[in-house]
Amino acid sequence: TAYEAAGARYERQPYNRSGRSGLKLPAVSLGLWHNFGDDRPVATSRAILRKAFDLGVTHFDLANNYGVPYGSAEANFGTIFQQDFLRYRDELIVSTKAGYDMWPGPYGEWGSRKYVLASLEQSLKRMRLDYVDIFYSHRPDPDTPLEETMGALDHAVRSGKALYAGVSNYSPEQTAQAARIMRELGTPLLIHQPSYSMVNRHIEGGLLDTLEQEGMGCIVYSPLQQGLLTDRYLKGVPDDSRAATSRFLSEEQVNRELAGGLNKIAEQRGQSLAQMALSWALRDPRVTSVLIGASSTAQLEANVAMVDGPPFTDDELAAIDELTGP
Ligand code: NDP
Repeated sequence: TAYEAAGARYERQPYNRSGRSGLKLPAVSLGLWHNFGDDRPVATSRAILRKAFDLGVTHFDLANNYGVPYGSAEANFGTIFQQDFLRYRDELIVSTKAGYDMWPGPYGEWGSRKYVLASLEQSLKRMRLDYVDIFYSHRPDPDTPLEETMGALDHAVRSGKALYAGVSNYSPEQTAQAARIMRELGTPLLIHQPSYSMVNRHIEGGLLDTLEQEGMGCIVYSPLQQGLLTDRYLKGVPDDSRAATSRFLSEEQVNRELAGGLNKIAEQRGQSLAQMALSWALRDPRVTSVLIGASSTAQLEANVAMVDGPPFTDDELAAIDELTGP
């Protein structure tokens, strides 16, 4: 049946400005790294995307190599987009990235102009889009001059194939350098996409300060630590969980004691552990959006309901630090 987006979709969550740019992003954004490849039923993927937009999730984040096999998340997204979202194109922010291993040979990964621009062409074809809203360098390349990688992003924007440019997994120093190069080229960097969660706080050691200085936004990935900071593993490792099914998360990483302790704090706040983890990652106003994954519409719905949670008390923050701190 034809998809009609919920009329009240913009009443659910706040939209935060990305740094000193004109672009706002939803507090909760959806990533398609897992759960959208050919290894997943397309009906589930489609239901999650529809539910997301109904909840005001206007931002879908992809990359060239998302899904099993590589590229399948973009291809499946493209199919669903054609069916359900074409008429909503101007209400949506779609991003993709190039940087990690995508095709064989010397031009299939990292940061050369050759790879980055060829990858964007492939991504647009797979997604059947004329342009993406944000195009990222997915990781810094130690062997390619930053001027070359940034030049490729600038070209992508100038040629109309991307509206904005971003970087992901860049250090504070690399970010400042990239921002300077892009400013000189006339295409300011919009945003950085780093990892961040209660148990992964590296961005507090300088990156957030750099982003504030450069006027860049910050969309943080894996704020639920791939599901470890949820109730998913409190009673064991379910067969359909990421820890049981993905090469990116192993059962050894599950820490039930930690999750159980955090879950108690969350309960006292009237939130689920996942909701508390998202509220926590958004507590610094320099964090523009939390970029989550979801394997079901129920997870997504529960996660977006995070916006109804209370602010943190100093005691709660201290109790979280006590459990997760070094
Ligand atoms: P999360 O930390 O949000 O983990 C998502 C997973 O957590 C889900 O797939 C699900 O796992 C579980 N989960 C989510 N909500 C709930 C809930 N309410 N209750 C119980 N379990 C829940 O983020 P991801 O690691 O998926 O990353 C999100 C996005 O960030 C990616 O899709 C991608 O767009 C981006 N990303 C970017 C990277 C980069 O280098 N730039 C690297 C990694 C991610 P399960 O499948 O077990 O149900």
